[in-house]
Amino acid sequence: MEDAQLDAFVAAAEDGVDCDGLVAARRSGGDGQNEAAGEYVFAVDGDRRDNLDESTFRSLASDHSSYGGNWYFWERGVPPGDDRVAFLRWLEGTDTTQLPERLDRLESGVHATWGQLHVTVSLDPDGDAGEYSRQYALCHADDVTSDGADLTEYHDPLDARELSKLDEDGRYRPLKTAPTLQRGWHFPDLGPHELVRAVECFYPATIPNWYREGEGDLDIDNWRDTAERQTGIYEVVEELPREAVEWVAQACCVDSQCLKRREWEYDDDEELAAPAGDGEFPCREPCSLVVAAARKWTILEGESERTYEFELTPSEKNQLEELIDAVADGRVDDVREADVGDGANRYRARYLRAKRFDEDGNLCGVETTNGDGE
Ligand code: SF4
Repeated sequence: MEDAQLDAFVAAAEDGVDCDGLVAARRSGGDGQNEAAGEYVFAVDGDRRDNLDESTFRSLASDHSSYGGNWYFWERGVPPGDDRVAFLRWLEGTDTTQLPERLDRLESGVHATWGQLHVTVSLDPDGDAGEYSRQYALCHADDVTSDGADLTEYHDPLDARELSKLDEDGRYRPLKTAPTLQRGWHFPDLGPHELVRAVECFYPATIPNWYREGEGDLDIDNWRDTAERQTGIYEVVEELPREAVEWVAQACCVDSQCLKRREWEYDDDEELAAPAGDGEFPCREPCSLVVAAARKWTILEGESERTYEFELTPSEKNQLEELIDAVADGRVDDVREADVGDGANRYRARYLRAKRFDEDGNLCGVETTNGDGE
């Protein structure tokens, strides 16, 4: 440990140190004014020495500099906030790996994923918080095997805001936690503060909510709470039928559409049957995208059902079902033009339209009746 780190460690022992197997304390003793020698405690991985004078205490700390240097990083090198520190510790597996093994692994890099983000944690001997500082590399999880040269390099964590705005095809992403993050970028050398800032840009509020959940302190607003709180044009969502809330969750909140794990339910007494998802970070309330979509569905659910009669061949009926599936699963762009066996093939769809739509776009020439049946 450098002298400055050692001084900081001795000073910290006044309040007690307990970090990754390193324990240090200074016992109050004597008359409180002239503390007697032999008052420090030092322990590493349970090997404890009591009644140490300051010189011996310093010497032991120097002998275990990896523990002290690691403590210094967590004391001085990380951003403020229990949630952020917990996140950084989770990234490198502090709960599951003892310090010596962890430091070995950090030499080559410890990996973790957070949604579609891939984080590699390694030691940074030149870091601001001493030789046990950490450095973080961040990229899209699907780009892990890419050569860094194929990826565009970024260093400012706020660039994550721009990267998270559009998907691979340049379309706006209204939901930050949708699994549509674009690829092709990397941040090779972020410090702890910058890493947290970048993650917060990609996935806002995921770190504090994940932390609160771990502490048993996640404040959940169920559907009914959220719906009753809406005002203005969204007030109507309170009228969405119970079974339609189920369809909303199935449409929007499953893993294929959102990486958050839905923790909200219909209300305190009724759970939703829709899968909640397996995401690392929780969703504590219906988001604005879901509320906006639910407004539309509430209006649509206000219509009464009508009976229409269409004449279709069995294959045509199947094709309509395949088309809806393809759109719902977002695979329309994957259907090859040559694959006319797929009901969502563009030529198949055009053929069906040519055959079954009239000049006004009515399926089988059957007009859509309005709410009054006219
Ligand atoms: S409400 Fe659903 S779609 Fe919105 S963030 Fe939560 S889980 Fe995702």
